[in-house]
Amino acid sequence: MRLAVIAHDGKKAEMVAFLNRHYQFLHSKNIEIIATGTTGKHAQDAGLKVERLLSGPLGGDAQIAALVAEHKIQMVFFFRDPLDKHPHEPDVQMLMRVCDVHNVPLATNPASAELMLRGYETQEH
Ligand code: PGA
Repeated sequence: MRLAVIAHDGKKAEMVAFLNRHYQFLHSKNIEIIATGTTGKHAQDAGLKVERLLSGPLGGDAQIAALVAEHKIQMVFFFRDPLDKHPHEPDVQMLMRVCDVHNVPLATNPASAELMLRGYETQEH
């Protein structure tokens, strides 16, 4: 299982805190984490093992969308900052659309991501 994580700048600290909180669980389920460049750097700096792609505004969101379309990613956590503007908004929309096209679970805030992980745990039993 591969989980993609992306966080806008205003949400990066929340993402790292979220991943830290659930790292044991993710690790125990062999869930690999793949991240956009800067989000991944923050996670790595916090000691977490993640694979990094390009930074979001430079094409990282598009890379994740391509992997979703190829069924190489099974879950996406995209903590968006609704109070900020983003130069790569078209890529953001595209990633969300591709998740919907392929029915891949997408959480855009920590509360939803939390529920998705709980759902994943129960589904496994
Ligand atoms: P970043 O990209 O992790 O490289 O900052 C996130 C984003 O799409 O804004």
